[in-house]
Amino acid sequence: MNSRLFPYDLWPGFLDQESLYSWCARVHRLSGGLSSKATSKQLFGEKLSGARTDFPTPLNYLLGQVGSALGSAESILVDRTMFGFYQGFLPVERCEELADAVMNGPFSRVHYALGLSASLSFTSRCLKFCRHCLREQANDKVGWWKINEQWPAVFVCKVHGQPLDRFLVERGAGWLLPIDALRAESLGQTVQDGSSLSHLAKISQICSEMLQTTGLDLQTETLRYCYLFAARDRGLLSMDGALRLADLRDDWLKWAGTAIALPELLFAKEVGGVNAGFIGQLVRSYPGIRHPLKHFLLIAYLFDGVAEFRETNKIVSDILRNEGTDAAKNHLCHLRTKLAALVVGGGKSVNAAAGDIGVAPSQAIKYLKKARIEYERRPRIVGTSKEERLVELLQCGSPRSAICTALNLRNSFIKDYLAHKPVLRSTYQAASLERTRGIYRSNFLRIVKMHPSMRLKEIQKIPQNGYQWLRRNDAEWLSAVLPSLWG
Ligand SMILES: [Zn+2]
Repeated sequence: MNSRLFPYDLWPGFLDQESLYSWCARVHRLSGGLSSKATSKQLFGEKLSGARTDFPTPLNYLLGQVGSALGSAESILVDRTMFGFYQGFLPVERCEELADAVMNGPFSRVHYALGLSASLSFTSRCLKFCRHCLREQANDKVGWWKINEQWPAVFVCKVHGQPLDRFLVERGAGWLLPIDALRAESLGQTVQDGSSLSHLAKISQICSEMLQTTGLDLQTETLRYCYLFAARDRGLLSMDGALRLADLRDDWLKWAGTAIALPELLFAKEVGGVNAGFIGQLVRSYPGIRHPLKHFLLIAYLFDGVAEFRETNKIVSDILRNEGTDAAKNHLCHLRTKLAALVVGGGKSVNAAAGDIGVAPSQAIKYLKKARIEYERRPRIVGTSKEERLVELLQCGSPRSAICTALNLRNSFIKDYLAHKPVLRSTYQAASLERTRGIYRSNFLRIVKMHPSMRLKEIQKIPQNGYQWLRRNDAEWLSAVLPSLWG
């Protein structure tokens, strides 16, 4: 029997984003092969491990068959197998071990180097495609598996914004293409509600973008501090710098919504427990490494996008490299000292100070009370009738000191209040100028009338005559009124 699948080595090339598994499945189909095991044996020298959906193994055997027709060994490994998804998250030695296992086999070594727990086995046996994309493809609607849709943290088609169809590959199922999956019974369970779907789309987007971003530090400890820094900025740390895990957990569950019902996210069910499941694993210093899918689930929740993540990642990575772990901890602790300094020395309101250091105002107040640190208790006024009165007084341009006395407020409160309301601020400034001008005008006229024969030079020597102010702020009125006074 001729061992070569294609005479004269006319191997087909990869299609757009095509995975190695998909290429093999097409070659199997094109060769008219009936037995997957025979094709796997011909391509990989192994009956089963060539047909692994994530890592067709051993790659070196395949390269011996196809030569350079598919590009370099490295480009096939990184861009056409799941290696590209895992590599950034693995410590160097483990990454090398995985690469060597895929290149040389046997598959048990790949399995060992990956170290996936049982709860993640669904993910590693799942093939995904977009049925809307499939309809638009030209290759007779047979379709091909795109590597970027196979990444475990990608759930939504970025062209159509629809959930990807998922197909669970039974062990020994051989080579399949999207058309086979479409004909078979669908997995059915997808996320339909808008908010959960949009969050799955965000996770997918962040996964795709991050895997294409170079220079990120994705080692376990760096990521842990990235999460803690982000949690601090969201007010999720307590005053001693400890993470308020229960609050983070509850908020994440609300955010994830119905998505945790997906079989791929089986492990997320444990988030509801006291240790907060995988979230607890990621934010506490447990030994070992975590599956990248878990990281993407938390990154998409804690960060607006890859740009924000990259910024924090750089800050954290620099601190850890140049100053060490204690310095990173310092950025999260000493919140009490910082709060006290802002409230006592800096004259800030509790709300403003809490915002500055990144803790919830309720946490800040709780601590200040416990530590018996005096802070000014100001009544809440926003949304009350007092606010209506404040707006009225500001619109009339009343002096701030008078408003403070009338409403028992601090000047800094009014300043902050106006800073957030630019329209009211300009109304206030105009009204205030108008009012002040009136006072200066009548004051000046009064002085002039009291001393009808006095020259302007002498009037200027009378205390609080206001002439200079009027020259600066009301020159037109002054020049109109002066001649008639001395006329
Ligand atoms: Zn699509």
